[in-house]
Amino acid sequence: MKIMKFGGTSVGKPERMHQVAQLITKDVSEPRIVVLSALSGTTNSLVAIGEAMASGNREQAKELIDKLEAHYQSFIKELVKTDKLYAKAKSIVSEHFEFLNIILKISFSEALSKDILAQGELLSTKLFSVYLEEKGIDHMLLPALEFMTIDAQDEPQLSTIKVKLSRILQQNSDKKLFITQGYICRNSRGEVDNLKRGGSDYTASLVAAAANASVCEIWTDIDGMHNNDPRIVKKTLPIEQLSFEEAAELAYFGAKILHPTCIWPAQQQKVPVKLLNTMAPEALGTTITQEAGSVGVKAVAAKDGIITINIKSSRMLLAYGFLRKIFEVFEKYRTSIDMITTSEVAVSVTIDNGGNLMSIVKELEPFGTITVEHDHTIISVVGNEIAQTKDILSKLFDALTPIPVRMVSYGGSKHNVSMLVPSSYKTTTLQLLNKGLFGLE
Ligand code: ADP
Ligand code: ASP
Ligand code: MG
Repeated sequence: MKIMKFGGTSVGKPERMHQVAQLITKDVSEPRIVVLSALSGTTNSLVAIGEAMASGNREQAKELIDKLEAHYQSFIKELVKTDKLYAKAKSIVSEHFEFLNIILKISFSEALSKDILAQGELLSTKLFSVYLEEKGIDHMLLPALEFMTIDAQDEPQLSTIKVKLSRILQQNSDKKLFITQGYICRNSRGEVDNLKRGGSDYTASLVAAAANASVCEIWTDIDGMHNNDPRIVKKTLPIEQLSFEEAAELAYFGAKILHPTCIWPAQQQKVPVKLLNTMAPEALGTTITQEAGSVGVKAVAAKDGIITINIKSSRMLLAYGFLRKIFEVFEKYRTSIDMITTSEVAVSVTIDNGGNLMSIVKELEPFGTITVEHDHTIISVVGNEIAQTKDILSKLFDALTPIPVRMVSYGGSKHNVSMLVPSSYKTTTLQLLNKGLFGLE
């Protein structure tokens, strides 16, 4: 079994969908599960629709729904040619927008907002299926809501997914091509939910692990993982090979090409992951496997929205159990810590989820003086055996002379050196590192 995931831009135009159909039928030597995102822009629109409804602004929500429907109406005109399949595509679009219009009339809830968000992937897969039908390409739609599940902590349960998916695949063992929705799933209450923004990559990796696939291909709009964020830095280059650990660090620390936690399922089952470009299918892309391929720095990434909490205490810091007590507060509020530094009189930690910040600060207060700083960015330098790489620290700090680096984390992993900087310095930091570490302007 081979998994092929196509992101929003890869299915965002009718001609792109046509191209995806070619890519998935090129090599038919093994069965394929194709995971699709929503058309580019759709999830953003659905988020805006949900927000308008949540704030009681039904008029604005209605306007956004109508605008999105018009987009789909013109999309299907170019997607299919025959009257019969155009009529089918039209009724799919009508059905989903009728649903959104019905939701508009009932009182808004968190669960309904998830239903709204799910429409994007449901539409893209159903419309793609209509196109495949027109082309006479035999396939089957696999409803993700029947096998993708998350538990009460919103974590995907690989073993449950495996059981459910295997059953469906066994019942349809005559089929060679399956199409399914990325991103959407059911939660522990049986409601429609999702794997957070960018979650289609996570679906692909979970499906790859559950189906024990030979490869998990992530098709997107760029030729693989680059050494730096191409949205911020002018000159960047693709990386041929990454280890699972390196890729996981880059994804977690902000490389948008991969969902932050999408690597572990593939890694657990040792399924190689390939990052490929739908717009340039012949490009080598990036291969992610157990092996790193080479030693040294490979890429930098940036993660925004970081909050720093400083705990200053001259009395307690060196006492036994002090750190444990601090960590227990974060554990209680299910808030994970990204970076930590300690000195004799202070501990600083960073978090990316400020949802329980007030309660955390309140519970930390008995331990010392607490200060909170917002708008920080973690810059991560990722590679293989970084600590052994010659001159890495001198190159790094030479490059960052003009930057007020707030924290440094080095040595916790062989793959990562992280620095905390004020977010206003993010662009400059990435540019300086591009020059200092990679010799690229
Ligand atoms: P998709 O819709 O296919 O999931 P995404 O927009 O989520 O695509 O991810 C691809 C984008 O990630 C690229 O267009 C690029 O701008 C961005 N990106 C950020 N950092 C990197 C990086 N280090 N390497 C490659 N792409 C990156
Ligand atoms: N459509 C979802 C999003 O835009 C999931 C994805 O594309 O991966 O976040
Ligand atoms: Mg994505």
